Amino acid sequence: ATPMSIMAGTGRAAREGILVRDAAVLEAFEGVDTLVLDKTGTLTEGKPKLIAVKATGGLSDDRLLALAAALEASSEHPIADAIVRGAKEQSLPSLKVEDFQSPTGKGVTGKVDGAALALGNSALVGENAELTELARPFREQGQTAIYAAVDGKPAGIIVVADPIKTSTPEALKALRAEGLRLVMLTGDNEATARAVAKTLGIEDVEAGVLPDRKAEVIEGLIAKGRKVAMAGDGVNDAPALAAATVGIAMGNGTDIAMESAGITLIKGDLRGIVKARGLSQAVMRNIK
Ligand code: ADP
Ligand code: MG
Repeated sequence: ATPMSIMAGTGRAAREGILVRDAAVLEAFEGVDTLVLDKTGTLTEGKPKLIAVKATGGLSDDRLLALAAALEASSEHPIADAIVRGAKEQSLPSLKVEDFQSPTGKGVTGKVDGAALALGNSALVGENAELTELARPFREQGQTAIYAAVDGKPAGIIVVADPIKTSTPEALKALRAEGLRLVMLTGDNEATARAVAKTLGIEDVEAGVLPDRKAEVIEGLIAKGRKVAMAGDGVNDAPALAAATVGIAMGNGTDIAMESAGITLIKGDLRGIVKARGLSQAVMRNIK
């Protein structure tokens, strides 16, 4: 293939919202046999909504939500956004925060209105039978429950739900039909991840993965001889996108993800992966 035909192909793709960095990306894509997909913001819309607040240990639900919203106001995470918006809708009072911290892939901590609050997953708050039990029915529906602790004691759960993009099932069906092996990779809890994967017919799930582990999973698959495309949207996906044979960023995601990827799907529509693959095959046929 001439550079001209490659340019014509990538130009056509660009008009359909698929940005391909260079010809080498198309060449690499042809041999891809495995597609690793981040859950939040890639398979799902990445715009979770507040579903439920269940306080334990003497707090009221409203008080827990007000404390949580104050802390999450300083976080950029989509979960934080859902909590802040949820509290605003209920016109809860805004509270003063000190010592805010956000350990990546775990959650947020700080002092709110004099109380030491931790909000996040079990890696941050620890596992507690009562909170796990409270979270179970929500997780079984694919919703995300995060744990709260106040002054080191379990204080309840906050549940958010993030709908699957309407384009996702069709995209996965086409990719599976082409023989690609699909793997879900997520920082979210195992039970939530399994439920979403089941809905989508994905059998291979890696859950509770810390950001630096995401790249390790990709490297592990490549070491086994697989050719791996990775689709993701977040800051936490950037190293994995860079490590993959082909990195695919969602245009609805973060800039750093797009900078680390060879392909960007402007609208975050995974059907773009099917099209990009078709383009790669057409171009490579011409070259050979
Ligand atoms: P992902 O976007 O793949 O779910 P992250 O690495 O961003 O993964 O987060 C992993 C987990 O850490 C989340 O599922 C959540 O439980 C927790 N977490 C991260 N950030 C926050 C936050 N701001 N508030 C509460 N929990 C959080
Ligand atoms: Mg994500």
